[in-house]
Amino acid sequence: MKLFSDKNRPAHLGPYPLERLKRGAMPDLGQVNSSQRLSFHRETDPVSIVNAMGEYQAMLDAIRIGIIAKVQSEIPANRNERSNHLKSFGYFSDASMVGVCALPDIARLETPMRNPGIDHLAADLKTRQVKTLASGVDVIMADLKETMMAPASSIDAHKFGIVFAYDMPRDPEHDEQGADWIQDAQAHRAALRANETACVIANYLRILGFDARAHSASCADVDLNKMAVAAGIATMDGQGQVIVPYLGQKFGLAAVTTELELAPDAPLAPLDEQNTQSWAWRLGIGSQKNGRNFTAFSKRKFKDGDHPFETLKRVDEPTTFIDEPRIPRVPKRTDMFARALLGDMGKKVQDGARNGHYARKAAPSAAQRRALGAFIPLQDGDHAPTINKTTQSANKNADNIKAACYFLGVDAVGLSRCPDWVWYSHDARGNEIVPPHDQAINMVIDQGYETMEGASGDDWIACAQSMRAYLRFSLLGGVIAQHIRNLGYPAKAHTVMDGEVLQPPLLLLSGLGEVSRIGEVILNPFLGPRLKSGVVTTTMPMTHDKPIDFGLQTFCESCNKCARECPSGAITAGPKLMFNGYETWKSDSQKCTTYRITNMAGAMCGRCMKTCPWNLEGIFKERPFRWLAMNMPKAAPLLARLDDAVDNGTMNSTKKWWWDLEWCDDGAYRPTTNGVNERDLQKDLDLKFEDQTLAVYPANLAPIHLPYPDPMNREQGIAAYNAMITAEHYKIKLANGET
Ligand code: SF4
Ligand code: SF4
Repeated sequence: MKLFSDKNRPAHLGPYPLERLKRGAMPDLGQVNSSQRLSFHRETDPVSIVNAMGEYQAMLDAIRIGIIAKVQSEIPANRNERSNHLKSFGYFSDASMVGVCALPDIARLETPMRNPGIDHLAADLKTRQVKTLASGVDVIMADLKETMMAPASSIDAHKFGIVFAYDMPRDPEHDEQGADWIQDAQAHRAALRANETACVIANYLRILGFDARAHSASCADVDLNKMAVAAGIATMDGQGQVIVPYLGQKFGLAAVTTELELAPDAPLAPLDEQNTQSWAWRLGIGSQKNGRNFTAFSKRKFKDGDHPFETLKRVDEPTTFIDEPRIPRVPKRTDMFARALLGDMGKKVQDGARNGHYARKAAPSAAQRRALGAFIPLQDGDHAPTINKTTQSANKNADNIKAACYFLGVDAVGLSRCPDWVWYSHDARGNEIVPPHDQAINMVIDQGYETMEGASGDDWIACAQSMRAYLRFSLLGGVIAQHIRNLGYPAKAHTVMDGEVLQPPLLLLSGLGEVSRIGEVILNPFLGPRLKSGVVTTTMPMTHDKPIDFGLQTFCESCNKCARECPSGAITAGPKLMFNGYETWKSDSQKCTTYRITNMAGAMCGRCMKTCPWNLEGIFKERPFRWLAMNMPKAAPLLARLDDAVDNGTMNSTKKWWWDLEWCDDGAYRPTTNGVNERDLQKDLDLKFEDQTLAVYPANLAPIHLPYPDPMNREQGIAAYNAMITAEHYKIKLANGET
């Protein structure tokens, strides 16, 4: 846990205090040891997670190039502003350090390094199914095929580079419980994570109309070591070995080269002139990463995660009632984004959903969406013909799964059964689903505090905040699913683009949170509501986690800040009610989806997450809040008022790094003419349930299971909301045989 807040630290400075390092003259880059190609093949070690990373690394390497927008966007002319913006984007994507350089000729490789996995992948993709109806995926897939077939072009026009370093957690112990799959995988993990960021940012620059290419540890036209030294995030020792201050040799690199003109960083002074052990660093003052916390998992086992999940109270049943035997299975077609796309909510919403316009209208989310689309064919596939003998124990599997997830970078993991009732009845194309798997690995990805701090929740970065977390799960969840298939079991990653299970009940069953007033959001005690989830289903045997009770039901009963701040009025200020067999604070998903898709002064929305008192920075001084909220439920009304009094949920302009650009008809992004949602808290608004008009569409109002229009009848939806009853009432009816 951090001792001090870094709310006054601009986003482009990043988590490490690079600004404290001494800068010097450009060293002789010819003395820097060249970077070597990293292989992701471990045929002789089938339990190594590195094998599963290989396909994802190859996919990222395949999309490191791509189509450049024909018309250049209107971006700031100031080179410093550009560099700071791109660095911030890197930090938003969880890079540890980002530096910018003028691309030195000596860093250009005479023979580019190519990933042979791309050819295998291209051949294999022909056999993979893509079932999703997610909008714009056909465009992404066509672009992907074109990219994979494209001849290698030159980067002669690229004059600048952006270099990303990713730090490493501690090395797993050889005899550590749960660490069987993650031995000797540090370099690969860091390379994969860095590659994700480089691919997204290279695509971002191309979308803005500037040629750019990503370079990874397995596929590159430049020497990453020399680039890192030139960009001022690394220096070298007497043997030419690259050293990154604070990290030593424990880092992975990726880079973007581009024609866009940027302001380079100065190179670092030699290592012996650097003081990386200042008091501020040791005490943890002024930067997110410091001497106390920079090595993740230094004091925890990988299988236990980075947060003290073991301290949570476990219970046999979730804290909200689930009437399992009577839960109706509904078609995937009920998903609100599918309904929007097929025209059930009218033309305006359909136009907003078509080709992923709601994501494409802001350049950062448009950039993330390409990788999201490219990962779809990798979510599922054939498994090894025989089960690996090391996977007989459910306990051991559970430890290995959790440790691998946490090692890769998942923020919270819970394991549960995967009952039939969480599966949709029909997939996106209308085919019946016979539940194929009975085990679920449920994962939660933090959307990131820092950018949320600078945002209103429904401005021009909102969509990218969601997409960032969705993309992270698609990558890490996809690697876990592939690894389980490598071990001989079927497994599928259910992502935002293509999923066949309802995730909230699985999060409840596996103890990843409780139902919150936001309704569709399961709130985690350590991450708050600021999260996105993903699920891997499989048949691999594993020990399950139990649900948790951290007092949230009492808290949300005493607080309705999310309902008060929701710009569309979708969140109920009333009681929990029974919907499709679940007790929940049922929100009006039609209102929420309509607002998110048609939001004019931003792209999408997550204001409920932004303003919730559980959206915390994770610093020491917040501990009393969390302790009181979890241990003294009667303090909830006071805590909710206190949260307002200290202005939690307002915007911190120091953290704003993104540009308010909007997509135009000619394909360029320009400063928006539709305004920016900059919001203050509505402390004076006294929202009453009786003044709200909400609609729901339970199973009896579900659309047909086929992908054809089936317009929503809002009057019926409102009547259905008014007909919902409390869990207590429902249980009485059950006892009387009336349900
Ligand atoms: Fe925004 Fe929907 Fe949350 Fe309301 S419920 S704040 S519209 S995301
Ligand atoms: Fe619950 Fe308040 Fe957060 Fe809404 S804002 S989810 S009511 S704690």
